[in-house]
Amino acid sequence: MVKKRKTSIDYMAIHHSDMPELPEVETFRRYIEQTSLERPIIRARVKNPIIIKGANERELIDAMEGGEFLSARRHGKQLFLELSGGRWLTWHFGMTGKPVCFDSMVEEPRHNRFLFTFEDGFLAFNDPRLFGRIGIIDSPEKFIRHKGLGPDALSMTEGQFIDIFGKSRGVAKNALMDQHKLAGVGNIYSDEILFQCHLAPHADIQSLEWRDLRHIYQTMSMVLSESIRAGAKFSRLPPSYLLHHRRKGATCPLCSRTLERRTIGGRTAYFCTDCQDSRGK
Ligand SMILES: [Zn+2]
Repeated sequence: MVKKRKTSIDYMAIHHSDMPELPEVETFRRYIEQTSLERPIIRARVKNPIIIKGANERELIDAMEGGEFLSARRHGKQLFLELSGGRWLTWHFGMTGKPVCFDSMVEEPRHNRFLFTFEDGFLAFNDPRLFGRIGIIDSPEKFIRHKGLGPDALSMTEGQFIDIFGKSRGVAKNALMDQHKLAGVGNIYSDEILFQCHLAPHADIQSLEWRDLRHIYQTMSMVLSESIRAGAKFSRLPPSYLLHHRRKGATCPLCSRTLERRTIGGRTAYFCTDCQDSRGK
């Protein structure tokens, strides 16, 4: 059977001002699922060894060549591709990475770091800033345990979220971004979730009640799902989203007040001092 190679996901236009988070990686997963499964891998080539730091190049290539990808799984920001030989490819997109499928080498992306050659086309890892990583493992479950990743932000239950978050210390934004607590939310989406909940990023978790935690969980599920439905393309998200306004001097989409910028957990947070409750902080 000839696999459909072109995808309807218009992911090339994904806004990349920051590290790919759960919605972007889910969009990549769907793209790979639609374009690259069950296509024999004739050749796998490392184009920049930084991408496979910590992995053995020969082992990686031997596990891929002559095989094919059977399935694509995601946990947080981490992608796993199941190989027909039984092992799994790990793929992390770093800050600027994305998968690109194409038919002829004249279309090879400029910053390609890893090339898979199929019988009738190619899959590349384009990554201008070289923070992405590809590796080979035996089991995604073991990898997730070893890395100490929390449950996937989109698949976790409300009970799990309330349990993990309720036991946390510190400020709300940091807890949302902590991949050991829950996996998948980064700088942009933690700001968005808290904006949509009307809670300040520096609000103390210990000041939150059960119903606040429930509200954060429900908003997180809504924001992540909405973004995935939009193919992680910012322009397809509602104008009331904060992510359209992440620049110095921009105003709040709800009340038009100038947004506040603050460094929290080493990242730049944007928020509105009028619309978001800081719980006295
Ligand atoms: Zn506001």
